[in-house]
Amino acid sequence: MTDLTARKAQLAENLARVEERIEGACDAAGRRREDVTLIVVTKTYPAEDVRLLSELGVRHVAENRDQDAAPKAAACAEAPLTWHFVGQLQTNKARSVAGYADVVHSVDRVRLVTALDGAAVGHDRRLDCLVQVALDAESGRSGSRGGAAPQSVGEISDAVAAAQGLRLAGLMTVAPLSGEYAGRPAAAFERLQEISTDLRTRHPAATMVSAGMSADLEEAVAAGATHVRVGSAVLGERPRLG
Ligand SMILES: *Cc1c(COP(=O)(O)O)cnc(C)c1O
Repeated sequence: MTDLTARKAQLAENLARVEERIEGACDAAGRRREDVTLIVVTKTYPAEDVRLLSELGVRHVAENRDQDAAPKAAACAEAPLTWHFVGQLQTNKARSVAGYADVVHSVDRVRLVTALDGAAVGHDRRLDCLVQVALDAESGRSGSRGGAAPQSVGEISDAVAAAQGLRLAGLMTVAPLSGEYAGRPAAAFERLQEISTDLRTRHPAATMVSAGMSADLEEAVAAGATHVRVGSAVLGERPRLG
């Protein structure tokens, strides 16, 4: 077996295990499997892995650093993939990200909305945007892993909805490591769902709820997540960075 064939077999096995977990979580929650989309987070792994995942039927991949994502997306341009950007984003990277990303999950301030809008219009593209909620952030502050305080979600969402080059698709969160939700992913994801319900009274089309990673995808599906972002359970444990 070549290295590539061995890697593909390993990825297939890992994907099957994750698929079983998602199915089990959907069953337990009385939800349909097709109502939850798997996004495979490929950060720190090479473009070759992204191509193998595509051959194995993965349709959604995510990256968190523009300097890694841009060349990877270019190397995989022929694969039928939707690219998600999930990392903290500097306004000076908006132009690059808007060139290859289809969905940005990490919109957390109005200044970034303005930058992404200008960039999307410049590329003649329409970007789906999720407002990232930091459940451990105080009002007016951002979270330690990015994200806006729950009190700011309305203002940022309105700015996205008003932007010509952007579409408000919904909300994203990462289970907090500090604050009242630390170690309580189920409670965190339920809170995100409440914020989503609130948001949809004003923006009914903003139905995406991106929550849950390798360690807590079951809790996210139970709480109503429409998208789970799974990295290490598919690709393997990452080296420390990333
Ligand atoms: C890395 C990352 C993930 C995936 O995390 P795993 O624990 O490897 O599944 C999901 N979401 C974001 C925002 C990430 O940065």
